[in-house]
Amino acid sequence: MSQGYNPFQIAQQQFNSVAEKIGLESGVRDLLRQPSRILEFTIPVRMDDGSTKVFTAFRVQHNDARGPAKGGIRFHPHETLDTVKALAMWMTWKTAVVDIPLGGGKGGVICDPQGMSLGEQERLCRGYIRQVYKIIGPLNDVPAPDIMTNAQHMLWMMDEYEAITGARYPGVITGKPVGMGGSLGRTEATGFGVVFTLREALRNLGIDIKKTTASIQGFGNVAEYAARKYSELGGAVIAVSCWCREDNCSYTFREKDGIDVAKLASIKNSFGSIDKDKAREMGFEILPGQEWLAQEVDILMPCALENQLTSETFKKVGPSVKVICEGANGPTTPDCDELIKQRGIFLIPDFLCNAGGVTCSYFEHIQCNMNYFWSKEEVFEKLDFKMTSAFKAVYELAKEKNLYMRDAAYCIAIDRVAKAVKLRGWI
Ligand code: GLU
Repeated sequence: MSQGYNPFQIAQQQFNSVAEKIGLESGVRDLLRQPSRILEFTIPVRMDDGSTKVFTAFRVQHNDARGPAKGGIRFHPHETLDTVKALAMWMTWKTAVVDIPLGGGKGGVICDPQGMSLGEQERLCRGYIRQVYKIIGPLNDVPAPDIMTNAQHMLWMMDEYEAITGARYPGVITGKPVGMGGSLGRTEATGFGVVFTLREALRNLGIDIKKTTASIQGFGNVAEYAARKYSELGGAVIAVSCWCREDNCSYTFREKDGIDVAKLASIKNSFGSIDKDKAREMGFEILPGQEWLAQEVDILMPCALENQLTSETFKKVGPSVKVICEGANGPTTPDCDELIKQRGIFLIPDFLCNAGGVTCSYFEHIQCNMNYFWSKEEVFEKLDFKMTSAFKAVYELAKEKNLYMRDAAYCIAIDRVAKAVKLRGWI
């Protein structure tokens, strides 16, 4: 997934540069620049044809000084340990920047769920939990969905955990189906959160959202709900780029007058791939995958994978772009950050921009512990409040100290985690 860039090295590089700026003590630095625990294991799965396939998987806990480790489990054929380590570290900063009492963790399995039957996926999920149940739990590490994992996967995992431990622990995992311990609004939360931060950014920049256009990379859960919320607030999505498994490449689907997001969503599969033939029938223009970068729009939303905005791909980005909101984790490489700064594009950094998902996971955790569930309106109101407050704190620091938004977000997050580590007496 890293295409020449190593996400863990990038995460460490970002951390080191801010640690230097804020003069972080060396002990704290050494502790926070690496994960506190790494588990790498195999999962044997009986396939439908009677054969056994052995999958490699990971769970990484970066830091739990502020609360139980928290973070998703990804299914991807190109998953790597270094990617999971980077993502676990970014989760620590994410939960800290939105100020929720949780730490950072992440999991991954090297697999292609699109090529597996539901039964095979269920056995993989249960096998994952049989390997990690000793180190996860509502009070120490709480997984959730991420790329190519969904509510059904989470429920199988919860069920396996409960079967092993012999009691009901709905707080062991979040992103479960509504009615089975899931929170209303969790499906929409990450994408909506992206747009809550975008709305605040545009307000501060004096730009009317109704007069803006956007181009999006990805059409999974995050991208779809970001597109829906953005359109609802009056913005026009012009282009969406996503992966086509059959052709082993991505395409950009364009509608210059603004995409009807519900229409596009009606022809996507559960992994976020759009049916090319149906899109053509519906009148979408179909362009090469990278063209999403080259559209004459105000806003770019990378909502797919890491390392998509590099010094190379950035050459395609036109002068009309004023804001980049990072719905994905780690979509921008450090060399590209420099180019974004030079162009004066306003960046909403990933671990702030896409923190709506984990924030709603936190709400799910609270509701599970209380065994009392909130209305959707209540969830969205609390989500908006959290995202808006976090955005404001980062924006104000960036303005006051003349910092790039990513660095300002890091300053706040690292400071909170460093304080927790020191108060506990770990350093
Ligand atoms: N996987 C999501 C993320 O990267 C959500 C994590 C969670 O809900 O714990 O933020």
